[in-house]
Amino acid sequence: MTLLRAEGLQRSFGGVQAVAGVSFEVAAGELFALIGPNGAGKSTCFNLINGQLRPDAGRVLLDGRDITGLPPRRIWRLGVGRTFQITATFGSLTVLENVQAALLSRQRRLFGLWRSVAAEDPAPALALLARVGMAEQAHRPCGVLAYGDLKRVELAIALANAPRLLLMDEPTAGMAPAERLSLMALTARIARESGIAVLFTEHDMDVVFRHADRILVLDRGRPLAEGRPEEVRADPRVRAVYLGEEG
Ligand code: ADP
Ligand code: MG
Repeated sequence: MTLLRAEGLQRSFGGVQAVAGVSFEVAAGELFALIGPNGAGKSTCFNLINGQLRPDAGRVLLDGRDITGLPPRRIWRLGVGRTFQITATFGSLTVLENVQAALLSRQRRLFGLWRSVAAEDPAPALALLARVGMAEQAHRPCGVLAYGDLKRVELAIALANAPRLLLMDEPTAGMAPAERLSLMALTARIARESGIAVLFTEHDMDVVFRHADRILVLDRGRPLAEGRPEEVRADPRVRAVYLGEEG
């Protein structure tokens, strides 16, 4: 089932065509990677989908509903979550409190409830932390966590919003290679179990080829190739432009 459909997206900044006609679909439970050299237009595509930017042309459909140009908050409420390149946790709060705060913000959104984190039943937050392998560190302040563990907490925070679509712009930036693979393996497992569509960008080709179900390669705002990892890896245009080899 197609959850996200991007149709003919275009966006310029001054004279630069950052995104020049990009279309793709992501199904529920699928990991879809957008890759391409720096400046290819990947982050701009993300921002067109999450509402940070309006397209000059094209549409974004979420489960068939046109969400093009809606404000970011509305799009978030419709179930589009994201993880951030810069950490979005509160360092002085514990891991558990950070996830509880995220769960509370969802309840406020759904039911208009306003309660304090301290009054909250910890069980749902602990269950989320167990899913990302962080239950044992629930009571540590986020500020003391190893970087890879912090990324897992951020994933739990994104999941607290029960997203149907999760946007991850370079989720493993700054991580060691083994940690990157394990974070994306975890993301893939959760996405498949929960039927969440994941759109991600990633510089580490090992991670991309290992965990993406499908890949779209962008080059200067234009689609260059799309397909399963083995197809994209074998494509001479991709090798020439992106993987830095002579075609
Ligand atoms: P990527 O994420 O693939 O590295 P971006 O989407 O960030 O690429 O950028 C695509 C192009 O658009 C680049 O040439 C970049 O300089 C330009 N660009 C992106 N955002 C802005 C902006 N807010 N203002 C001006 N130019 C921008
Ligand atoms: Mg980017």
